Amino acid sequence: MSTILPVINEIELAQKRVLIRVDFNVPFKNGVIKDDTRIVAALPTIQYALDQKAKVILVSHFGRPVPGQKKEEDSLLPIAEHLAKLLGIDVALTDEPIGESASYLANGLKNGQVMMLENIRLDAGETSNDDVLSKQLASLADVYINDAFGAAHRAHASTAGVAKYMKEGAALGFLMGKEASALSKAFYAQKDGYLAVLGGSKVSDKIEVLKSLVTRAQIVLIGGAMAYTFLAAQGHQIGKSRIEKDHISTALEILALAKQNNTEILLPVDHLCAEVFDESQSAIFVDDIDIPDHLMGLDIGPSTTAIYCDRILNAKNLIWNGPMGVFEWKAFAQGTNALAQAFADAKGYTLVGGGDSVSAIHASGLADRIDHISTGGGASLEFLEGKLLPGIESIKENPAVLKNQPTSEER
Ligand code: AMP
Repeated sequence: MSTILPVINEIELAQKRVLIRVDFNVPFKNGVIKDDTRIVAALPTIQYALDQKAKVILVSHFGRPVPGQKKEEDSLLPIAEHLAKLLGIDVALTDEPIGESASYLANGLKNGQVMMLENIRLDAGETSNDDVLSKQLASLADVYINDAFGAAHRAHASTAGVAKYMKEGAALGFLMGKEASALSKAFYAQKDGYLAVLGGSKVSDKIEVLKSLVTRAQIVLIGGAMAYTFLAAQGHQIGKSRIEKDHISTALEILALAKQNNTEILLPVDHLCAEVFDESQSAIFVDDIDIPDHLMGLDIGPSTTAIYCDRILNAKNLIWNGPMGVFEWKAFAQGTNALAQAFADAKGYTLVGGGDSVSAIHASGLADRIDHISTGGGASLEFLEGKLLPGIESIKENPAVLKNQPTSEER
């Protein structure tokens, strides 16, 4: 199997039918698009294909419709209309995700025109990665481009299955290309200077990512409620802090794995606490690892923050997933905000992934000082767990030929 991962601008597109998988699963409120970030993020790939005079067929899922039972709210029509405004050209939408209307519209497409298939999850074959649907999708076009990073961890017909049936192969869109190279650069970095920050509410959600990063990184900084399960496992008093009793053994396993791999795990040495879990509480500083019985830890303390920031500033390659405390409440946001600032100031390569840490970076206005902010929560987490993403692997199985490559005779 080839391991080449061609990107859209490396392959010939002129006059070809190009099937582009995008992620247009945008939030709606009262029938109106609430946030069009995902649509805007796909524009460079779509516009590039149109500029190259390709015939563009877009495919996306939207929500979780019941297959075969199209309701008005399942339709991609408002999205097609919004895209038409953004591109300044017509965007035709098929009646059904696949079938006669799709083939008819695809056959009639001219160079530089774009159409969209109706919500692909209306076909039961999408989520079952059905071969019949994959072949039908492939028959609409010559080349397949995957630009839906948010869905790259799903092995569905339009995100993975279709690639192997494309006559002229498959490639990554600009968004996917950027995600794949940034995540690979950060995740496969050498151990020396490799630092990972993991936080958030639960050890149980992050077991796989903890196990994977604890073997690769040199230093792992742990914060958030997750830290208290680790402190409890080490025999510390954690007061009323949120912990997962059934995962104390998991925490011990991860600490042992770190030791075997010569990885340093740092845990909080002081805390900001409250008596009850409520936004009205002001922070009570506990200048000790151990937390008294009547308090719960809701943020890392100033000494922990200083130690973590110092390590961050001196690291060469940095990955961050999950907040250091209840950052939604001002009194318990200092740890997360200070780390966001340290990530912005760090000289090393910085990658932030996962919903809450990404929101914290955006809220602090530091997004443009981070090397890469991953757009796909689930997909980036699975990548950091060391799993292969079907949306990327399927391209490796049938990569499109790179343009201007010397033929074997010319070489
Ligand atoms: P996650 O979705 O696992 O990344 O967790 C993020 C959530 O964890 C946020 O909503 C935080 O408010 C919450 N969180 C972080 N630290 C704590 C803590 N010490 N106690 C309770 N919740 C926390």
